[in-house]
Amino acid sequence: AKEIGRDALHFFSNDMAISAHEKLRQQEELRRAIACDEFVLHYQPQVDLRTGSVFAVEALIRWKHPERGLLPPGEFIPFAEESGLIGQIGDWTLRAACRQNKAWQDAGLPRLVVSVNVSARQFQEIDWVERVRSALSDSGLDARYLELELTESLIMADVQQAVALMYRLEALGVHLAIDDFGTGYSSLSALKRFPVGRLKIDRSFVQDLPGDADDAAIARAVISLAHTLQLRVIAEGVETREQLEFLREAGCNEIQGFYIGRPVEAAAIEARLNEMEPE
Ligand code: C2E
Ligand code: CA
Ligand code: CA
Ligand code: CA
Repeated sequence: AKEIGRDALHFFSNDMAISAHEKLRQQEELRRAIACDEFVLHYQPQVDLRTGSVFAVEALIRWKHPERGLLPPGEFIPFAEESGLIGQIGDWTLRAACRQNKAWQDAGLPRLVVSVNVSARQFQEIDWVERVRSALSDSGLDARYLELELTESLIMADVQQAVALMYRLEALGVHLAIDDFGTGYSSLSALKRFPVGRLKIDRSFVQDLPGDADDAAIARAVISLAHTLQLRVIAEGVETREQLEFLREAGCNEIQGFYIGRPVEAAAIEARLNEMEPE
C-alpha cells in the first residue's frame, strides 16, 4: 500500500491504483474537513480593460489542512468529484462566496460580481437550481452579483439538459460564463443556444502570447467569435504587460491573472477595493 501522510499530492490523488481502503480514509478526511469547516475561499480580481477597474472576483477554494497547510483545489477537488462529496463542498463554496460578496456590499465597497466555479457533478444534482436560489436568498445577495462558471465539457456532456438548466439559472438573474474556453469542443451552433454572458479564454492560449503565432490567432478568433455572438470575453492567466497589451489590441474586454493580482484572502481584496473610487 502507498504510504500515507507524506505527500498531499499523492494522498489526494485520483490515482487508479490506490486501494479501496485508502479511498475510504481519504473520504473520511474530506468529510471531517467539511464538518470542521476547514475550507477557505481566496479571491482573484478581474479587471475591465476599458476602465482599468476591478469589477469582479473569482472565488477559488483552498483547504486549510491541519497538518499539510494550505492545499490548492487540484489536490482535492478531483477526489471530491469522484467520491461524490463535491455536492457539499460546492454548496459551501457557493454560500460562502454569496455571503462574502454581500458583506462587502454592506460595508459600502464598490459592487462586484463574484464568480463561482461549478463542477459537473454539482451541476447534475437534481435540486441544483434550488440550491443556488437558496444561497442567494439566505445571503441576501442580489442575483446579478453572482456569476457561475461552467466548463465546456460540463455543458457538452448533455447539451440538452445543460441548456435547460442554464435557462432556469438565467431566470434567477445570475450570470453564466463558459470557463476554459477553447479546451472543449462546443460547436458554433451549440454556443449560440447558451444563455451565457461571457467566454473565458483558457490560460493555455494566453501563456505564450504574444510570441506564439498559433495562440495569437486562436485568441483573436475567440475574441471575434465572442463579439459576433454579443458575448464579453475575459482572458485568464495573464502574467505579463505584453500579454495584456496584445489582448487589449485584440479587443478582449477583461483580464484576470497574476499580472493584475493573485488569488488572495477576502481582507486583501477589501484593502484593494478600498483604494478604488466608490461608485
Ligand atoms: P480555473 O477555474 O481555471 O481557475 C484558474 C486557476 O488558475 C486558479 O488556480 C488560479 O490561481 C490560477 N491562475 C490565475 N491566474 C494565473 C496566472 O496568471 N498564472 C498562472 N500560472 N495561474 C493562474 P487554482 O486556484 O489552483 O484552481 C485550480 C482549479 O480548481 C480551477 O481552475 C477550478 O477548475 C478548480 N476550482 C477552484 N475552486 C473551485 C471551487 O470552489 N469549486 C470547484 N468545483 N472547482 C474549483
Ligand atoms: Ca474558473
Ligand atoms: Ca478557467
Ligand atoms: Ca483554466
